[in-house]
Amino acid sequence: MKFGGTSVENAAAFRQVAGIVRSAEGRTVSVVSAIGGFTNALLASVERAIRGDARGATRSLSGDLERHVTIARGLLSDASRAAFESAVAAVRSEIRQLHKIIASHPVTSPSLQDEILAFGEQLSSQLLAAVLREHNLAARYVDARRCIRTDDHYGCATPLAETTQATQVELSKVIRSGEIPVLGGFIGSTENGVTTTLGRGGSDYSAAIIGAALGAREIQIWTDVSGVLTVDPRVVTKARTIPVLSYQEAAELAYFGAKVLHPKTIQPAIDQNIPVRVCNSRAPAEGGTLIVAEAEAAPQTVKAIAHKNGITTVQVTSARMLGAYGFLRALFEVFERHRTAVDVVTTSEVSVSLSIDNPTTLPQIIPELEELGTVEVEESRTIISVIGEGLRNTPGIAARVFSSINEINVSMISVGASTINLTFMVDEDQAREAIIRLHRVCFEAEDKHHAELLAEEVGV
Ligand code: ASP
Ligand code: MG
Repeated sequence: MKFGGTSVENAAAFRQVAGIVRSAEGRTVSVVSAIGGFTNALLASVERAIRGDARGATRSLSGDLERHVTIARGLLSDASRAAFESAVAAVRSEIRQLHKIIASHPVTSPSLQDEILAFGEQLSSQLLAAVLREHNLAARYVDARRCIRTDDHYGCATPLAETTQATQVELSKVIRSGEIPVLGGFIGSTENGVTTTLGRGGSDYSAAIIGAALGAREIQIWTDVSGVLTVDPRVVTKARTIPVLSYQEAAELAYFGAKVLHPKTIQPAIDQNIPVRVCNSRAPAEGGTLIVAEAEAAPQTVKAIAHKNGITTVQVTSARMLGAYGFLRALFEVFERHRTAVDVVTTSEVSVSLSIDNPTTLPQIIPELEELGTVEVEESRTIISVIGEGLRNTPGIAARVFSSINEINVSMISVGASTINLTFMVDEDQAREAIIRLHRVCFEAEDKHHAELLAEEVGV
């Protein structure tokens, strides 16, 4: 069970977490992020120290360190509160030393930065263990750095194979004795025992690694939203939680910027075929989203509508392309030279359309493309992607999608037999309307009479 920063941002949130751990079935392990906002503050403090202001750097953390003490005061009895307060004081003085070193030798900062960032998770996990004990749960703090063994790529370390065994050794004895291990996410250590971090948001990754090492029945990611939603709730108020997603659907959604787990994070779960559940710690009764292997993921349906604004499309048309070879390569080399990522691509015999979301290099790219053909650029486009295993094999879904938006000008339609997304472009100012209609036809149909609604959408 992994609890994110917002799930432990204050005393009330910690109390919620204790309730969630208490009602969990079977044996559990808790993995926790730094309390909300603390990692950002720690990072900013390091930047300040690099600029030479060590005192200011340490002082900038006073409020957040005090927040830990306040939470402890609200939730812990005297003895454990005193122990935690002295842990906070020790952390403060260690950080002060580190800030001083960074200020005088800024070159040392990558490893020392990880050392400093790691205090966020160390404090939150010690605090959570104490809070759980206060709620009569047999919790035991375990230093995650003894489990997650990594290379020395500071700031974005990669876990090594020995992590599995180290995790099993450290945790199974605790679990066997009937205790709940409580670990900080995000942190690890090198073979020399130097602290590392797994990259921002890395606690999800830690949870997946630990769950995979232990052969967990389920990995739960507790956050502040009720799972993964069918659509951006700022566009469609009737957005709802997707009950079940496949790993691949979740990966597609992540790519389109939906608020969902990073595909890399759940890879250890995928490798072991362990279901991942995303739940809301503020509303634990709402089931959340279960992410599972394809076969179990209700393959007949559309799951979500994702979109991304601010897209630029580029079309290159040239009769020379007809029957020629090497043309696409020449075209993509232009983008490669300018280190510009291309997202969606569609081609015909004589033209290629592609989309980019960062147009800063276009002024250099366009003249080079003009050597290949006629170039047309359109800005302010939106990519819309309809995602679901159902697109693979359910006839009629594409027809339903397009007839629901038949007055809206759609371009660059992209779909493949093996893909689970149907992607296309619309003008940014028509995107909202398109997304609302698509959501209605794909998800709100069950609320009304399906046929009636379809007729209305299609205008029959
Ligand atoms: N506390 C770290 C961060 O904010 C790790 C995490 O929250 O997953 O990036
Ligand atoms: Mg965080």
